[in-house]
Amino acid sequence: MPQPFPSLSDQKQPQQWVITPNASALAELAKGIWDCAMQTNQRPLVVLSTAGPLIGVRAALEQNRRDGLPSNIAFLPQVISFTDWLEAAPGAWKFPKKQSDLERWLGIYATLRKHKNLQSWFKAETESGAWGLAQAIVEACDTLSTAISPQLQKQIHEFTRMNHANQAEQNKIGEVCLSEAQALLDSTVAKVYSGMARKVVDQETKVLLEFWRYTASVSDPAFRNQFAMAAHLNAIEAVKKLNQKDQLSQARPLIWVETADPTPIDQEIIGDLLNEYAQHAPVVEVKMDWREVGLWPEAIASEDSEQAKAQALANAKRTQSEDWRLIAAKRFEELAWAAAKTIEQHLIEGKTNLALVAQDRLVARRARALLSRLGPSLNIRDETGWKLSTTRAAAALNSWLELIKAPKDGPSAKTLLEFLQNPFLNLGKMLNRDTEACIGLIAELEDILVASKAESGWKTFHLAIEGAQDNAAKSSSALPSAALFELLQFLRECHHEWLTLKVDCNKAYTLLQINLQATGMTQSLEKDSAGKQLLEVLKTFDLSKTQHREISIRFSEWLSLLKTVIEGASYQEAGKEAQATLSILPLSSTRMRDFEAVVVVGCDEQQLPAYSEPPLFFSDALNQLLKTSTIAMQFVQQARDLSQLLVSCPNVDLLWQSKSTNGEPLRPSAWIQRLQNQIKWEATPTQLKKRSFEAAPMEMAVAHFEEDLPMPLSMSPSAYKALRDCPYRYYVRSLLGLRKNKEFDEGFDASLAGQTLHKLLKRFYQALKTQEHTNLALKTNSEQRRTWMEQSLNRYSEQEFAALIEGDARVMGTLRDWQKQIPSFVDWQLQRELAGWQYFDGEVKVGFDLPFQDADGNLKMIRIEGYADRYDVHVDDSKRASVIDYKNQRFERVKVRAAHILDDPQLLIYARAANEGQESHKLRGHQVEQAEWVALKADISKGEQKAARSQAVADMPEMMQQFSAQMTEDIEQLWAKKPMQAFAPEGVCQYCEARGICRKGIW
Ligand code: SF4
Repeated sequence: MPQPFPSLSDQKQPQQWVITPNASALAELAKGIWDCAMQTNQRPLVVLSTAGPLIGVRAALEQNRRDGLPSNIAFLPQVISFTDWLEAAPGAWKFPKKQSDLERWLGIYATLRKHKNLQSWFKAETESGAWGLAQAIVEACDTLSTAISPQLQKQIHEFTRMNHANQAEQNKIGEVCLSEAQALLDSTVAKVYSGMARKVVDQETKVLLEFWRYTASVSDPAFRNQFAMAAHLNAIEAVKKLNQKDQLSQARPLIWVETADPTPIDQEIIGDLLNEYAQHAPVVEVKMDWREVGLWPEAIASEDSEQAKAQALANAKRTQSEDWRLIAAKRFEELAWAAAKTIEQHLIEGKTNLALVAQDRLVARRARALLSRLGPSLNIRDETGWKLSTTRAAAALNSWLELIKAPKDGPSAKTLLEFLQNPFLNLGKMLNRDTEACIGLIAELEDILVASKAESGWKTFHLAIEGAQDNAAKSSSALPSAALFELLQFLRECHHEWLTLKVDCNKAYTLLQINLQATGMTQSLEKDSAGKQLLEVLKTFDLSKTQHREISIRFSEWLSLLKTVIEGASYQEAGKEAQATLSILPLSSTRMRDFEAVVVVGCDEQQLPAYSEPPLFFSDALNQLLKTSTIAMQFVQQARDLSQLLVSCPNVDLLWQSKSTNGEPLRPSAWIQRLQNQIKWEATPTQLKKRSFEAAPMEMAVAHFEEDLPMPLSMSPSAYKALRDCPYRYYVRSLLGLRKNKEFDEGFDASLAGQTLHKLLKRFYQALKTQEHTNLALKTNSEQRRTWMEQSLNRYSEQEFAALIEGDARVMGTLRDWQKQIPSFVDWQLQRELAGWQYFDGEVKVGFDLPFQDADGNLKMIRIEGYADRYDVHVDDSKRASVIDYKNQRFERVKVRAAHILDDPQLLIYARAANEGQESHKLRGHQVEQAEWVALKADISKGEQKAARSQAVADMPEMMQQFSAQMTEDIEQLWAKKPMQAFAPEGVCQYCEARGICRKGIW
């Protein structure tokens, strides 16, 4: 039975009113509020303990407005949440300054630094751990401060009243001398502290208490709230006095609506507040009566458990609705689809105000993604707090933070490219160039870095671009853009600025803002909804007007703080007009709100009820002592929220996943099971319509030529190898030119280390040739020759690698590995000389024209061309020549190459090129009759000088014939435009860029 609104009397104490939190609760509450307005002839002040039902209460007041209201109460009563009411306290701007979370964390940080004993106690392994700890300490200190609030409350009210009396009828609460208030606080804290410290046993909490003693300040939220309450009370007292003088009506009545169960400490604080308020104006305390709504005894929470049980059973039987549906899904995806389909069905039925309770946040998120396909006619409002850190705006900022925190040599290529590829970057602004001129710049840089295997370091990146320039000059292809150097220089200077910055909070913030401006990111972020919010979050780091501005802090700590704050921020999506609205919210947010249908996902025994993480420092027992929220209270609250939802909402669908991820059966929540035992309520399996279709498995990718696709007129040895490896890949990379690395040939060791080795070996052999003319002993004295070779090779290696090492110190390892190879390499060279082979020339561009017939039988030519590493000639017969290819790899790999020479006939190409068209190259008069690979990473682990490193092509004349015939056939097939299939062993596919196009793995 609904209780009528009480008749208000001048009894100077709060009057109680209970309402039943069912579907008509809002209307009943609204009628009561209007009743209060009528009785007092005043516009009441309605304060809700939580903000969720605000809009619902206002709407209900509008709907239940009485006819013929006198003009002074015709306006809607003021409805406000408790938090907003405190914020709106008279003179709030004069209160002790409100601190942002960030300032409070920094305060903790500064205190930890000051007190060494605390530092040693609260040491956290990582920086982000330290900030997490600071957050936990702030929370725990707030709990402690709230715990002493009731004691302080009386004193503050007394103190302000005295102050008030002394200051001639003015509301002076805000002008209370801070030091006096702080002294009051300190004495209370000291008193309470000793009492508490005696009661707690564990050391950690003792240290926390000590910490609290050091840091408790009048600007803490718990104490600011006390000032706010006192200010409101003083104001109302002032109004009352004024009105008594003027014979005017009383101060405004207050209606306090307890929308959620308060913690005992909140109950105490609010109880005192209402009592004091009641001295000046009527006060009605509205509570919820769960007797007719609770579906389980714990939701009713009656003293008499038997009676509660009977009542709960009766409620369940009475309220059971045909529109409660219990739906089981076996898998995650099925559950998300079932949720989406259920919501879709409600929309089809014409409902426009729906809710999705995200008891399982992952499923809710997936269902949301599915529902977004419905388009703009459904407005999805996520109240569960989408994390800002998951947006691409935050990822873009993060890519910059990663870059500036790179070690002094420079970032990794991955970090660099991640930043450069972020969509908020404005390259044109950054380089002061036309946007048009910057198109393709990043792809070009990526190509160069990938091809030269430049893994990290500014110097390495510079060398890679220089290397690309050299290669382009050699092959007469387009030079890399000059803007690449400017780009690197710009970033390097920014990075350097951070490295040399003596970081304090203010300087770091200022420099970050300058960077974001200079890279054009600020302007781009402002145009993005998440970007705008991110910039707002960054503004909280502007501590220029606070005492924390000059806190010196390690750069890594500041970065970690920045990331922690962004991680904790939520992203609010912009609301938009739509035909229907779906609110995604936690269970607690459904309290006293109207929805036409609610879908709850995650109703399994593991997720319903859900408990918040217990505070880091307090056990449940200690929480009880501090009178804060305990697990038992959260349990009761959720039982009530679910009861209220089931009882008041016309359509509720409860969905759960009946099998856990590891295949174990999962039951629905115990609350649902208990209801099932009492009433006839069966779960239904998901009924997603199965769509049948003919499977059409994909087949191996095959490229068919476009008629007007230009055919190649030249081919490098590596391109031919690609054609042999996988025709489809050749088609994609070489014919279509998709992300082709123009400057470097695959197979040619394009890494900077490989290039350097080739370069220094050429230098070494040229020097040897020169030296032999001036120092004849080098030819005759083998020991002297060996020593000279080893020393020269070592010296050249040091010199050639120096620049690389400057860019990336890790290259030192590569140099040292190579230097260990030098004695064995020299030994091999001497052996080769003993066999009569003498160095002739290195890095020689050679090629030949291959004749073939096209599809119409016309004779055509294709140029096969490349750079041979080295040619030797024989001392006894200078007509005889040999070609060598260095491989910066192990000898075993070289042997594998030799076994498949026809698929990788690089050496045979160089041999044929040297023997044909001699008038156009240096090999005139020589015939290559021998070819070998030389491994630059021979196995010298056993300390042998004579480690095997060279592998000659076996049966050269026969191979040359076979290769020539095969190559002609392959080129003829290519020119005949036969379909090109995608086939290659996994080893080739592993690093293939065309995989996404040929879709290997799907067929
Ligand atoms: S992934 Fe393998 S099969 Fe596909 S194109 Fe690349 S090499 Fe050929």
